[in-house]
Amino acid sequence: MNHDAEAFTGTFRDSPIGMAILDASGRLVDANPALTTLMGRTSALLAGAGIAGAVHPDDRDQFRQVVAHVARGTSERVQIQVRGLHASGDVLWTKTTLSRMPGAAGHVVAYVEDLTEVRRARELVEHHSNYDLLTGLANRTLLIDRLTVALQRSAASTACVFLDLDHFKVVNDSLGHEAGDLLLVEIARRIQATVRPGDIVARLGGDEFVVILEDMDEEGATGTMNALLAALREPVLIATHEVVPTVSAGVAVGTPRTTAETLVRDADIAMSRAKAAGRDRVEVFSEEFRDDAIVRLSIESELRVALREGQLEVHYQPVVDMGTRAAVAYEALVRWRHPQRGLLLPDAFIEVGEEANLIIPLGEFVLDEACRFIASRPSFTGKVLVNVSTRQIGLPDLTGVVSRAIARHAIAPDRLALEITESGMLVATQAALADLQGLADLGVDLLLDDFGTGYSALSSVLRSPVTGLKLAREFTLRLGDRSTGDRISTAVASLADSLGMHGIIEGVETEAQYRQALAQGWKLAQGFLFGHPTPAEQIPGAVGAPASADAAVTPRTTPRFPSPPVGPRSPIDVAADVPLLPSRL
Ligand code: C2E
Ligand code: MG
Ligand code: MG
Repeated sequence: MNHDAEAFTGTFRDSPIGMAILDASGRLVDANPALTTLMGRTSALLAGAGIAGAVHPDDRDQFRQVVAHVARGTSERVQIQVRGLHASGDVLWTKTTLSRMPGAAGHVVAYVEDLTEVRRARELVEHHSNYDLLTGLANRTLLIDRLTVALQRSAASTACVFLDLDHFKVVNDSLGHEAGDLLLVEIARRIQATVRPGDIVARLGGDEFVVILEDMDEEGATGTMNALLAALREPVLIATHEVVPTVSAGVAVGTPRTTAETLVRDADIAMSRAKAAGRDRVEVFSEEFRDDAIVRLSIESELRVALREGQLEVHYQPVVDMGTRAAVAYEALVRWRHPQRGLLLPDAFIEVGEEANLIIPLGEFVLDEACRFIASRPSFTGKVLVNVSTRQIGLPDLTGVVSRAIARHAIAPDRLALEITESGMLVATQAALADLQGLADLGVDLLLDDFGTGYSALSSVLRSPVTGLKLAREFTLRLGDRSTGDRISTAVASLADSLGMHGIIEGVETEAQYRQALAQGWKLAQGFLFGHPTPAEQIPGAVGAPASADAAVTPRTTPRFPSPPVGPRSPIDVAADVPLLPSRL
């Protein structure tokens, strides 16, 4: 044996890479230990089975041809991807290099590198870049790919549905992220069980899902979604809690001009409409929605500028003592002096501010102004009521923001009252309730705003540190109807009294309403009859401000917003969790 042949035999035996010697027809002459291990077969078995047993049927012809070429000397060295067959039947992905065997004419050496693991890793990476890990659904990348293809095929019969879970944050915050994840997985399962087997369901992250429905028109998609909404309302048991999930859905159907991205965005816009219309429903996209969305977007960016450049201001509306009609408190109401559109009321921008998280700086601004108002009017000894958005409650720092504002202006904490809407109280999580307690501990009053429009259980009101109620204006409008309006007004006035809370009736506009409210037991009121929201400069009592015309009729010392009577919070049985008022009357 010459030196080369000896060296080859050594390499053949010890090589960690699989090696085989083949004859010109591709028949196996010998296999090294690395190859027999790789294929799970003995050398004899490999030789016996020949190429048929070792190479994947689809790759056999190509393999034979290449071996023949190399054996003949047409090609010196060829590298090919060949799928081998393991003894178990598993496919082995290999990179095989074929070259002529030194010193043995007509024979070929194959170096077989196993790429199976590499390939699996690559597939895994590809899977991860196309699928959502939590639910196994398609992710945004795959969704856009598939939607693009569907739109090219037939835009007019491609419907895209955007789904967003209602109040998911409440589940996440109160039951924990693991419970939130379980809920998402269950929702994913229900969506897939409702749509047709081939429909693409994707999760975009968070609680947002998108479904592509091909060969479907608007009506079909809306029908499918209504079925889905019904399926989703089945209670889910999560961590011993029964959760009734609901989703809001938006449907958009393609046009010849829509791209995948715009279609998803249109469906998203329609979904926001469904949320705004009360959640747990389907809305179909229309062009005017998009215009509204663009307006909202411009409000958002303009509101950022407004906050930075001081275009916001706070107006104050008196809360009066029903007996004397004197102002005993003021409600701080934010206004936006828009450079082009004039004075804007909160309805035009609060909601956008909440969604864009601008409510936090806005809220801080109003609080600061309210404290300044108090500090600059030593003769006014009543409270200032500041509206707090649900989004501000439960932020770890609300108590900090309030106490810093109080300290900055050196005012007593009991001069400040915060108004929280009744519906805000309802969605308040455990963390938020702790936050409210922190504020109450500071000595700040908490009032339930727009009382009667939500769905308050009496026991939940009593469990919270709330010290007052404001009856929503819609009930004031119904005063004198000798029916529900009068009954609710009377009941809430006496409820506030018996709970030892401040009761304020809102939206009193006429003398007739005033007389009725007085007769029904209201002690505090607010409304255009007593005063409109007014800029701070026009409210007398500010130190250093020019005396205003009506300063003379304003008592020098304002009566104090009465503290609620002391004593037991409630003589009422608090165990019953009965809704105090129906949501709609
Ligand atoms: P709200 O807290 O219930 O405030 C009372 C609203 O009713 C005010 O509207 C006030 O101008 C209006 N109002 C008062 N008396 C009468 C009346 O006799 N008749 C009629 N028709 N309306 C009356 P405004 O200022 O437009 O505020 C609307 C809502 O915006 C407020 O309702 C409050 O929820 C919110 N808001 C106002 N300022 C702020 C703020 O600084 N922060 C937050 N988060 N929300 C605010
Ligand atoms: Mg209010
Ligand atoms: Mg109100």
